[in-house]
Amino acid sequence: MNKKIPQIIKEIRQFTPLEIDYSYQKSISYSQYAMWKQCPHKWELMYKDGHSAYTPTIHTVFGTAMHETLQNYLTVMYEESAAAADRIDIEEYFESKFRETYLKEYQANKSVHFSSPTEMREFFDDGVNILNFFKKKKGGYFSKKGWHLVGCELPLSIRPNERYKNVILKGYIDLVMYHQEENILKIYDFKTSTRGWNDSAKKDEDKQFQIIFYKHYYSKQFNIPEDNIEVEFFILKRKIWEESEFPQSRIQIFSPASGKIKTKKAVDSMTQFIEECFDSTGGYKPTTHKINPNKNCQYCPFNDNKELCIK
Ligand code: SF4
Repeated sequence: MNKKIPQIIKEIRQFTPLEIDYSYQKSISYSQYAMWKQCPHKWELMYKDGHSAYTPTIHTVFGTAMHETLQNYLTVMYEESAAAADRIDIEEYFESKFRETYLKEYQANKSVHFSSPTEMREFFDDGVNILNFFKKKKGGYFSKKGWHLVGCELPLSIRPNERYKNVILKGYIDLVMYHQEENILKIYDFKTSTRGWNDSAKKDEDKQFQIIFYKHYYSKQFNIPEDNIEVEFFILKRKIWEESEFPQSRIQIFSPASGKIKTKKAVDSMTQFIEECFDSTGGYKPTTHKINPNKNCQYCPFNDNKELCIK
């Protein structure tokens, strides 16, 4: 039976992202912001100076395949039925996405392998465990009572600061749901993680800001009050403590506080990023950014490059 589609969902689905003219405009993203926050010099090397240093990893392949598999399952569950979603061979679907993504990344990596068959098998098996858990427990996370699927990978495309009209924030939201009676829009961000987020990860404001940005700018993009938007990190754990006395969940839910004070802090930080790095015509500011050695330097592609980083 076809449910009537609420007006707000139609509007969101019809949204056309801003077109960016890269000859004089810049696009920014949450990942750029997070990189700048961690080390402004790294951001400058990558985005301003064009030292593109992307190297694929098994973690990104796993994350992409897991996102696509869950998004497909939820789409069928809400657009058709839960029974139809259960008829999908989820393991086979995941395997095809996993292979497809690995192949794409391998080709982009100049046909150099970046994982081994043993590691790939381990990640694949972890993925199957997550998906089996999800299928069994989905009712505890996703209800069909009053909820509509708005969509997956929905675009966010907005000028975050009107004084910098040529700087455009772009992003894709993993999943948006709508509850008609309560008039609540719910934004989900899927995360894959080895063992979930511990307290320090949950307290990390820069991690929290991602979903707070989504809430704030989605509210502006569609003129929906922030009070009518909820947010949630949906964290998928590859590993659980097998020896635990208590049943372990493969899914961790984390909804950071996203009230006025926290949102202002996040938006102020985004403004600082834009003001320090761009001018009002959309160009980069000619500043030399601060080098900020940090605990993630060991994973930074410029870690051993003395010409580019003299930390
Ligand atoms: S190695 Fe560390 S200090 Fe140097 S650019 Fe990378 S993150 Fe910044």
